[in-house]
Amino acid sequence: MKKIVTIGEILVEIMATERGEGFNRPLSLVGPFPSGAPAIFIDQAGKFGQPCGMVSCVGDDDFGRVNLDRLKQDGVDISGITIDPDVATGSAFVRYRHDGSRDFVFNIKHSASGRTALTESAKKLIEGSDHLHVMGTSLFSAAIVETILTAMAIVKGRGGTVSFDPNVRPEMLGLPGLRGAFQSIFARCDLFLPSGSELFLFTDAKDEAGAIAEILGRGVQAIVVKNGADGATYHDGRQTLRQAAFKVREVDPTGAGDCFGAVFVSCWLRGMPPDDALRYAAASGARAVERQGPMEGASTHEELDTFIASTGHT
Ligand code: ATP
Ligand code: MG
Repeated sequence: MKKIVTIGEILVEIMATERGEGFNRPLSLVGPFPSGAPAIFIDQAGKFGQPCGMVSCVGDDDFGRVNLDRLKQDGVDISGITIDPDVATGSAFVRYRHDGSRDFVFNIKHSASGRTALTESAKKLIEGSDHLHVMGTSLFSAAIVETILTAMAIVKGRGGTVSFDPNVRPEMLGLPGLRGAFQSIFARCDLFLPSGSELFLFTDAKDEAGAIAEILGRGVQAIVVKNGADGATYHDGRQTLRQAAFKVREVDPTGAGDCFGAVFVSCWLRGMPPDDALRYAAASGARAVERQGPMEGASTHEELDTFIASTGHT
């Protein structure tokens, strides 16, 4: 089976237990939950049974250990993750507003995640991988962009493939050089996994059909547009497939896109027909939103089979 590698931030997520605006007064919090978009992605890939590994950096602290233990337990190769005793593991404090949007306080760039580098063990892991997955959230510094571009060249150089989920937070696009970094990665990806309007990030097309045609025309093999509870759509130039979301009770939407992406990419690498890959991916996204905590709803292959069977699909 093909091995997936991802590079980027490892965080703990600490959540306010009450909905509302911001963190301007003492609140009840729950956490730490292991997190970070690429970490959630790779944890779900590992749990699904795909060979996979991660390049990152954590501090020598419990926030780091909570992540390393989880990743290892779920089958992720953690040999490319450095433990740096001089810095603390990254964190994100999250509070849901009443309208479902979120307020964050992040410590990423100046946390251990900011020291993610191409160490010898990271390089070895990348050289042994067949696929690189890139999360837009990970492109938070020039150094990490450089590491990701180098990894991309290594993986592509050995005939591998790249998937890209822009997963962009609007405040990030203003950072110097970031648009260029997004463009470079987009230009070389094989599988593009935007959510909703992110489909239009790299095109001037005015409608969805125009954007799809333009992106596929540039050499992307397939596009999957994620639309939360409205499901997902797959396009490869030969066919367009729509996958409805499974009906579940949404407890915490964080991580759904990352879990969906991990299962879709794993199935795609296994050569599964795209309608089956989409069904497994949607099942993973649905199970992810049923649990509190970004990584807590990650599923094994068997759990997805049981879930899909319970909904009447085969
Ligand atoms: P994020 O970046 O916040 O993790 P995303 O925008 O990348 O999310 P979504 O579109 O929110 O990704 O979710 C991915 C997939 O997960 C959806 O296409 C759907 O199949 C499933 N999903 C998400 N939310 C729900 C929900 N409320 N109910 C059922 N399935 C859901
Ligand atoms: Mg996303």
